[in-house]
Amino acid sequence: MSELRDLYQAMILDHYKKPRNYGRPAGADRSAEGANPLCGDRVQVFARLEGDQLAAVGFEGSGCAISTAAASLMTQAVKGKSRAEVETLFDRYHEMVTGKAKPDASLGKLEVLAGVREFPARVKCATLVWHALLAALAGRDEIVSTEVSE
Ligand code: ZN
Repeated sequence: MSELRDLYQAMILDHYKKPRNYGRPAGADRSAEGANPLCGDRVQVFARLEGDQLAAVGFEGSGCAISTAAASLMTQAVKGKSRAEVETLFDRYHEMVTGKAKPDASLGKLEVLAGVREFPARVKCATLVWHALLAALAGRDEIVSTEVSE
């Protein structure tokens, strides 16, 4: 298992150093911002919906390795999905990072963040960008604080 853990850490660092989908995608028609004062993470998520499908998604911001990697991995995981699919994926992801459920195949690369369950204080780092995305998809252009919920 320690080799797997090393691989996951290497992938997290890679997404932290070279975040995917960084920036505002062309035609983005909604955004929301998230802040995690406990860690100092700030993230802004941009999205474009076509019908019910997430046609484009990107993010900007600054934060710790986990929050940045979580944002980068999320943008790859949710592109092309419907709002309902994004919500289902977030439920599974949330169960994984809080240790309530083991990762399953539907999580794909998001599994590299499974180790967060051993660090409860970092759950907010890993979920911040998801809360911002859900707020953006709901059409609420606002600052999301993870102080309220994980
Ligand atoms: Zn953080």
